[in-house]
Amino acid sequence: MSSPLLKVENLTKHYMLRQGFLTKDGPLVRAVEDVSFSVDAGETLCIVGESGCGKSTLARLLMRIVEPTRGRVLVDGTDIAGLDARALRAWRRRMQMVFQDPYSSLNPRLTAAQIITEPLENFERLSRKQRDALAADLLHKVGMRPEMMHRFPSELSGGQRQRLGIARALALEPSLIIADESVSALDVSVQAQILNLLLQLQQQMGIAFIFISHDLSVVDYIGHRVAVMYLGRIVELAPCEALFAKPIHPYTEALIAAAPVPDPTRPRSMPPLDGEVPSPISPPRGCAFHPRCPFAIERCRIEMPSLVPMTDGRSVACHVRSPAQDIPRKGLLNEIR
Ligand code: ADP
Ligand code: MG
Repeated sequence: MSSPLLKVENLTKHYMLRQGFLTKDGPLVRAVEDVSFSVDAGETLCIVGESGCGKSTLARLLMRIVEPTRGRVLVDGTDIAGLDARALRAWRRRMQMVFQDPYSSLNPRLTAAQIITEPLENFERLSRKQRDALAADLLHKVGMRPEMMHRFPSELSGGQRQRLGIARALALEPSLIIADESVSALDVSVQAQILNLLLQLQQQMGIAFIFISHDLSVVDYIGHRVAVMYLGRIVELAPCEALFAKPIHPYTEALIAAAPVPDPTRPRSMPPLDGEVPSPISPPRGCAFHPRCPFAIERCRIEMPSLVPMTDGRSVACHVRSPAQDIPRKGLLNEIR
């Protein structure tokens, strides 16, 4: 069997907070904890969860912008931590990122043509003519007119800037694009245009996407599979359709219940989420969701549930809802305590 395009094993990132200028290390922020998943070529994996649950940290770990505390990132079966500078450059070419705010991630002093072809110049020497031809081609791919290549970011609309960010990502013909809240700042109608563009690029070029969003309606539209994160961990990983038809983890259920659903016939059994996301500096013992969970039992307060594969291709980390987990024998709870 061929290895997946991307495989992530037990990926963990703890940030050490500094207390003050001369003081020793402060508390640990457990931004990403023990995250494992894989992405196949041409697939879209969405990552959802409330603000602060570790989505952007996960993206930075995948891009190797930050180093993991633990765990591995494998690309076509090769651990990227072991790559030398040259192999790392080749890897960076295959994986590109599109950010939330295209304005702050685009250099305001460069024209669209320079922005799009900048990543290429690190790899290949281009004449002005070659560069313009390439920029025109890339602008065409993202649905912009070639004249736009002479504009500066400040002369473009939000949607055009995001298209430009995508064109820049496409310049190196990546196998995988990580989009971190890439449409969140845009109006709904512009969001739909950008999502359709991404779907079209995926069909044409077979690009895989890791699509990070806090917005479930966007995920429903674009995703093949979804990973739901809570306080740094994946609590449910499922094919999109199955997840929206029948969320299993109580947190997933609450998120879907809280989202404005386009289809009002979908059942809503769960009351809206109460309370705040706890701090990743001192996450609750046991299941991190238990203080907000209406179904929590004694075991949830004590023991962290692991992500257990179910029969329909999904995995769920819940003592109450994933029947594959053994119910501890009588007396075991007391032993744990
Ligand atoms: P999300 O993208 O889901 O909103 P982030 O990955 O940005 O979440 O943040 C996850 C947690 O890690 C948050 O509690 C955030 O404050 C913390 N965090 C992120 N980056 C750093 C950093 N460089 N130093 C310390 N803490 C950080
Ligand atoms: Mg983020």
